[in-house]
Amino acid sequence: MYNNTLKENAMHKNRVDILGTEFDNFTEKQFHKYLDYDLDTKANKFIVTANPEIVLSARKDSKFLKIINNADYVIPDGIGIIKGAKSLGTPLHERITGFDTLKYLIETADRKQLKVYLLGAKPEVIRATADKIKKDYPQVDLVGYHDGYFKDDAPIVDEIAEKKPNVILVALGYPKQEYFIEKYRQKADAIWIGVGGSFDVFSGTKKRAPKVFQKLSLEWFYRLITEPTRFGRMLAIPKYMKLIKQEKNRK
Ligand code: UDP
Repeated sequence: MYNNTLKENAMHKNRVDILGTEFDNFTEKQFHKYLDYDLDTKANKFIVTANPEIVLSARKDSKFLKIINNADYVIPDGIGIIKGAKSLGTPLHERITGFDTLKYLIETADRKQLKVYLLGAKPEVIRATADKIKKDYPQVDLVGYHDGYFKDDAPIVDEIAEKKPNVILVALGYPKQEYFIEKYRQKADAIWIGVGGSFDVFSGTKKRAPKVFQKLSLEWFYRLITEPTRFGRMLAIPKYMKLIKQEKNRK
């Protein structure tokens, strides 16, 4: 416990502030080492994966911002965060995506035969996600799953408390998933992470951007052309870049 507190304090000192949201500054490899340790010690941890849209949203919702900045890990999901950090003269090591973190946690659960619980996405998506885990990661102990369209939290929270998963993946979209985790994380000592639309991609329901888009950091552009209804949400990116510029000039 004492060691954990020391480690947490050390990590918080290494955070980089981007327009109010405080990001951890470590490599993906280092982050994975922390996660391995957390799983081995059955620590209770909360991971937030934040992109420019979330940073802007947190500026308007002080409760959401507080939840993010109090999380154990805040990782830079999106090239916009890396660019913003560099522009402000406080560069971050590298981008770490929610999707890759989800994969790492599932692979690790498979390797260590750990218990996993899945919450969120549409009923057919969550079923496909569960099926994929059972098929491709047979050593994972999938203790339960539930879609993200429920009225009553209680049965889900009771199931989590009873099954005691080691990893809880919450795909309710932001800020709903972060509010949910903050409210219930004491029900189980697990790694809790909000993974947004990752189940849609993981299950194969939605395609991830092809490698060439990933390499050029143009995943957002791929999403825009394949899901034009997201255009409104994408306007967050130029707005975010403008705020970064203003902040840079202010500094
Ligand atoms: N979702 C959910 N319950 C809700 C609202 C959303 O389970 O009440 C799911 C939705 O089905 C999708 C995910 O949350 O799987 C959000 O996806 P989106 O692509 O909007 O999230 P992002 O990755 O951009 O945060």
